[in-house]
Amino acid sequence: MKIKIMVYGLVLIFLNSLVLAQLKENKKNQRLLSERDTIYIMPNETIYHLENCKNLGTKRTGMPLEDAVRKGYIPCPSCILKNIIRIWISTAKKPEIKLSKKWHEIASWEGTATKSTETFNVSTTEWRISWETRPGQLGDMNFQIYVYKANGDLVTVAANIIGYNKDNSIIRGIGSYYLMINTAQPYSISIQEKR
Ligand SMILES: [Zn+2]
Repeated sequence: MKIKIMVYGLVLIFLNSLVLAQLKENKKNQRLLSERDTIYIMPNETIYHLENCKNLGTKRTGMPLEDAVRKGYIPCPSCILKNIIRIWISTAKKPEIKLSKKWHEIASWEGTATKSTETFNVSTTEWRISWETRPGQLGDMNFQIYVYKANGDLVTVAANIIGYNKDNSIIRGIGSYYLMINTAQPYSISIQEKR
């Protein structure tokens, strides 16, 4: 009986040492990154990579992990599959949740006539156009907001109504934009970044 218990105890100790060795090995393969460590992004993409990722081209830009998360970048699937950045995600999630709830105005306009705005730069992948309009001296009129990239490409029509209304239109994509506002009734428009 005593021998049985002793053998059982030895087997337990042996199994535990195997588990510990495995844990140690896993830890060695993971790179624990801090929010200040540099990750890399590619133009017109919304994901970030490790320096040695095969998905990275020569047009890469480095930035601190913290900045990438704040701007709405998500980790590269290939990097996750390699099990390298598992820890990044857990450290990165916190600021994202904390900061994603606030809208910050970066430009605004008021007026009563058709106009083309100056170019404004958006640094977050998600942003919005918050607008309100109402009938003026001419009564119910058209109100339309066309969103253009700085190079003249039409992105979307953010508003197309007649008379009173207000709403928020969510737009996606970092870059330089301008608006074409087509109306003859009073309006106010605010461009806001989510960060
Ligand atoms: Zn990657």
